[in-house]
Amino acid sequence: MNSRPSCCSNPVSVIPAVCMLCGSHCGINVTFANGVPAKVEGRADHPLSPGYICPKGQAIAEIYNSKERLQVPLQKTTEGDWKQLSWAEAIGIWADRLQAIKKQYGAEAVAVHVGQAGVGKQFTSYVERFCHVFGTPNFSTSESHCHQSRVMASRMTCGFHPQPDFMSAGLIVLWGRNPRQSSPEAMQLIKQARLKGAKLMVIDPRAHGLARQADLHLQLRPGSDLALALGLLHVIIKEQLYDQDFVARWTKGFVELAAAVDKWSPEKAEQLTGVKADAVRQAARIYARSTPACITPGNAVELNIEGFQALRAITIIQAICGNLDIRGGAMATRHLPLTSLALKEKVPVLKKAVGQEEYPLFFKHSGQAQANLLAEAILSEHPYPIKAVVIAGSNPLLTWPNVGKIKEAFSKLELLVVIDNFMTETALKADMVLPAALFLAETEIWENSCFPGENRVGAAGKIVGNRACLTNWDLWKQLAEEMGYKEYFPWESEEKALDFRLKALGLSLSRLRQYPEGVVYDHWQEKKYEKQGFATPSGKVEIYSEELEAYGYSPLPAYDENEENQNSYPDEDYPLLLSSGARSMAFLHSRYRNIPSLRRLSPAPWLEINPSTAAAMGLNDGDQVFLESSQGRVAVRLKFTEELSGQVVYLLHGWREANVNILSDDRLLDPVTGFPACRAIRINIRKK
Ligand code: SF4
Repeated sequence: MNSRPSCCSNPVSVIPAVCMLCGSHCGINVTFANGVPAKVEGRADHPLSPGYICPKGQAIAEIYNSKERLQVPLQKTTEGDWKQLSWAEAIGIWADRLQAIKKQYGAEAVAVHVGQAGVGKQFTSYVERFCHVFGTPNFSTSESHCHQSRVMASRMTCGFHPQPDFMSAGLIVLWGRNPRQSSPEAMQLIKQARLKGAKLMVIDPRAHGLARQADLHLQLRPGSDLALALGLLHVIIKEQLYDQDFVARWTKGFVELAAAVDKWSPEKAEQLTGVKADAVRQAARIYARSTPACITPGNAVELNIEGFQALRAITIIQAICGNLDIRGGAMATRHLPLTSLALKEKVPVLKKAVGQEEYPLFFKHSGQAQANLLAEAILSEHPYPIKAVVIAGSNPLLTWPNVGKIKEAFSKLELLVVIDNFMTETALKADMVLPAALFLAETEIWENSCFPGENRVGAAGKIVGNRACLTNWDLWKQLAEEMGYKEYFPWESEEKALDFRLKALGLSLSRLRQYPEGVVYDHWQEKKYEKQGFATPSGKVEIYSEELEAYGYSPLPAYDENEENQNSYPDEDYPLLLSSGARSMAFLHSRYRNIPSLRRLSPAPWLEINPSTAAAMGLNDGDQVFLESSQGRVAVRLKFTEELSGQVVYLLHGWREANVNILSDDRLLDPVTGFPACRAIRINIRKK
């Protein structure tokens, strides 16, 4: 057990830190009383988030002190009870079981998944390294269902993943993204940009607060983003609103695109999206005439059956209107280039990762297994038997599609190990549960892009002791040493290991610690492509992608009407579309519903529905109903809202009391990325 830093030993002291509960990295002041965190407030002097923290940030002390927080390693007995283990016992048993499974079935029979929550972020690379040294290709992360599709779509189209420059934009387009709920640091910038006169367009099935304040709100049907993007492209091209010089010099495949979107009149787009044709025209004209403009697509776009192609189309809209890599547009900034720890050469080439065959481009770009196929792989033993799964900081039984199948698959395993802060639904099914340290007890690195054109990296210090938990670093290092892999983990401490990763930047932890506001690692410069071209095979924006074509996908963003009609349009049996997956400021996906102050903010799950839709079905506000999909049934109470219209209803994900992933279908995955289509699930409602 690590000792608590001496600065925390005064009866009352305040220590500045950075909140690492989510990627916003807000500045916090932690007040200690008698050595434990007693209160957390926002740091008014912090450049990332002057004074702001969200409800989760305010609850950090409550989370840290929660009696429900896991403290000791636990092993399930044959009677189903939990037996406490020492760390040495737990690591020893864990190592032995992994070795035995490797010996009997091969290293690939072990899969490891790292989620977004409850575990440190930089340590993910050490887990990946462990997997490679062990010899399994089955390492996956939350990239299986978050963000990676956006990264892939933009990189394959223009060679970089853009960062929107809100502060200098004439127009900001929030497409399936509500930064009020998900990105307070982006929200600060948007507020400032609005005060400077930036227009706002919101594309979202929900008329949320920002949508109501917007200059234009397109309330599209969930899952129809690609149809809308093609309708916008049709208008922009037909009315010659695009940047003709940029298109001529810097794009490949414009002629083919123009031919392909010829049929996508605003009227056709209206049929599929529910957005009036005139509003499609108006949106296209406003966007094309508002340069510089930035579009920021959210998770709602990628979590659909056509999500990848929709994201490609959105990148193309930005490109042909001349908004790539300009001030106020989509900036090509550098992702934090830490030294890689991957040792892929240790994994036998013949052993393909789960999902590598089905989603080869996802594997090529992420280097990871596709976790959405893990349950199927366990049950079918294709491409080979999977016998052990380690889950760190993730709760698949609430957050992955088709939990019925996941439960069945996990019960077939010989070993399920869960590493987490709390006893989650997935942890309850495990053979062994290991407590994860909270971020306050770990040394971490944050990165932030809320200074337009100046991406920064900083240190988030360890300010409390670990109680009985090992840090994530210690935990994996001890496991590696127990298994005889010490030579691959030569660093004495997480600080030394982080120094190694920072070497690529010419930085060290001690240097970062001198700059609480972070160190700028990337000074953005406009239109770099004019000197070096775009980082694509042709050096141009690839509207037509030969890489996609070579892998058997449509080289242009093309809408598969049959697929779409079958899977995400309401029909007689399932006349409503359920959207799920959005964020709540009170929770982090399925997390923190056990924290009283956060639970008070949102005490119970609700199915939100427009009053007129409910009235037509004979339902009243507050009625208990069953939601039914082709996959299962969930009971929940109705709540009326004018923010949704027509056939669209909404249920927040992450509730054990009304688990939306009982309803989602793990077979409905984006054909390029394998991302689940959980933003548009066909359902019916019956009164309970
Ligand atoms: S938004 Fe909330 S959880 Fe995220 S870093 Fe800021 S305070 Fe922490």
